[in-house]
Amino acid sequence: KDMYGITTDSIPPARISYDEPVAGERVNAAIVVLVRNSELNGLRKSMRMFEDRFNRRFKYPYVLLNDEPFTQEFKDGISAITKNELRFGTLNETYWGYSKSVTPEKTAEKLEYNKNRYLYGGSLSYRFMCRFQSGLFYKHPLVADLDWYWRLEPDVEYYCDIDYDPFVYMKKKGLKYGFTIAPREGRRTVETLWHHTREWIKKNPHLLPENSLVNWVMGTDGNYNLCHFWSNFEIVDLSLYRSEAYESYFNYLDDAQGFFYERWGDAPIHSIAATLLLHKGQIHWFEDIGYQHPGNMHCPRDPAMHAKCICDPGKAYTYRSACQTRFAKVNNMTKARMLEIIHD
Ligand code: GDP
Ligand code: MN
Repeated sequence: KDMYGITTDSIPPARISYDEPVAGERVNAAIVVLVRNSELNGLRKSMRMFEDRFNRRFKYPYVLLNDEPFTQEFKDGISAITKNELRFGTLNETYWGYSKSVTPEKTAEKLEYNKNRYLYGGSLSYRFMCRFQSGLFYKHPLVADLDWYWRLEPDVEYYCDIDYDPFVYMKKKGLKYGFTIAPREGRRTVETLWHHTREWIKKNPHLLPENSLVNWVMGTDGNYNLCHFWSNFEIVDLSLYRSEAYESYFNYLDDAQGFFYERWGDAPIHSIAATLLLHKGQIHWFEDIGYQHPGNMHCPRDPAMHAKCICDPGKAYTYRSACQTRFAKVNNMTKARMLEIIHD
């Protein structure tokens, strides 16, 4: 008899073993997390849900990165959540540092000026983080060998059973970039980002495809409409970021000082690049993946999708988001038309 006084062999076996590895095609991928030691509890929460909804069965390894060495307490606390492989890494100055184009002194002045203008306006570490996530993470030795990645953050929630492999799904469909939530960026954080993007485009039309979804981020007036994919969730074929075009774009932006003198986020940068370099058939909205990051929530309203979820679609931000609506409607634009608009 067990602790409840029930004869154990009378208990029927579980109908499905969620620990059973899933057979079928795999991709060379990992779940990549940038996190601080102080966020142990928040990450435990994210991973508990992520494991329960998906990774307990699909068993992708985790890559955990930090600009400081992980403490033993952190490693133990994370190890208790999953039986899957954990790879811990510390970032050196190559990955966590200033752009060559800026100085610490002038950065300090800009942080002082911006500290009350927007969220994280006065934070230096936030800027190192955004620069790392924009142009460096995929070159880190623990990430460099991966073909795909799925970004996870502390304090997010996953609401729906994910009973298929989104990496394999994307690969089979020729998809390169997957997202759940598409909000609008705060204008003041990216004051000159679009100006520099336009300059880069004018100098590098040979790096751009004949058709792209740039229409999603650019209005008919040739300006940036602030739409972006929220990068705290993203599933990406890393060949996008390792392309000659992306490398050139990131280096151009790194030279333009905005990671430090403004507060350019990796989300608008990834999004502008993805829409410039990909066409509509390569970018996917995972409507079936209910998800929350502090600030915004997505919950599918389609009944078949919602059947696997524990969230309220009536409270979803995504069906009210103008950028999301635009994504559903927008079509590819030719390179010729785009160049005409941005040269005006
Ligand atoms: P938000 O999502 O834009 O509000 O910013 P977060 O504070 O969530 O940061 C984004 C991601 O980067 C999260 O995964 C954080 O854990 C991570 N992060 C942010 N700043 C730092 C930092 O200074 N060091 C480390 N190691 N991780 C950071
Ligand atoms: Mn976050």
